[in-house]
Amino acid sequence: MRTPIVAGNWKMHRTAAEGRALAVALVEKMGTPRGVEVVLCPPFTALAAVGAAVHRTALRLGAQNMHWEAQGAFTGEISAAMLVDAGCRHVILGHSERRQHFGETDEGVNRKAHAALRAGLVPIVCVGERLEERKAGRTDQVVRGQLRAALAGVEPAQAAGMVIAYEPVWAIGTGLPATGEEANRVSALLRATVGEAAGADAAAQVRIQYGGSVNAKNCAEFLSQPEVDGALVGGASLDAEAFAVIVSAAARG
Ligand code: PEP
Repeated sequence: MRTPIVAGNWKMHRTAAEGRALAVALVEKMGTPRGVEVVLCPPFTALAAVGAAVHRTALRLGAQNMHWEAQGAFTGEISAAMLVDAGCRHVILGHSERRQHFGETDEGVNRKAHAALRAGLVPIVCVGERLEERKAGRTDQVVRGQLRAALAGVEPAQAAGMVIAYEPVWAIGTGLPATGEEANRVSALLRATVGEAAGADAAAQVRIQYGGSVNAKNCAEFLSQPEVDGALVGGASLDAEAFAVIVSAAARG
């Protein structure tokens, strides 16, 4: 049985003090969530404050990006070891906003995944098709290609511990989510792709989230799907009430 995982991607929102207040509100609302893993991914500058707020709670800290090199002359970048040092256990990699606005490539995502795994971080690898790709009937080809590239050279045991987020680009921040049925279909396809790359055990264990305009009202449609093991949540993760509803809808057992 896979433990569902819900991650909040705060994007470029919340100062340290605001982040701390949101995390405190979440801890108050959620208590100790059972049967679900919860990860908060604030901006780098709020990691310490949010980390302190969730210390000794069941909530985990994650980052939104990192560099693949361990250290060096990479102005403005953050390494995996720095994230571990800041208290992170997870890191979002290859978010479509990074691919779209910052030129992130499949190869870069793969290098980052290796670096994250070496440092003991759980990568949350995002894949998803753009609207024109979906309209052209290329969804499956695009997401399989992104996932295969991200998994290149990754050991089966490492792949098993990774999290894959299926995030159709046209659904992110638009209020126009995919259907539960389609999220389930693509998640099954991604699971099969993990199986081809890393074997049946990894496929059975890897967790696959849906992301794209998930909110308190529609979350059950996604979280009730057998192939969907949680959600990556943007906008609604900034609202403690909404995020708590999503977390409780994801909890199993
Ligand atoms: C995201 O940023 O990964 C995301 C899914 O955003 P939203 O929930 O706002 O669509």
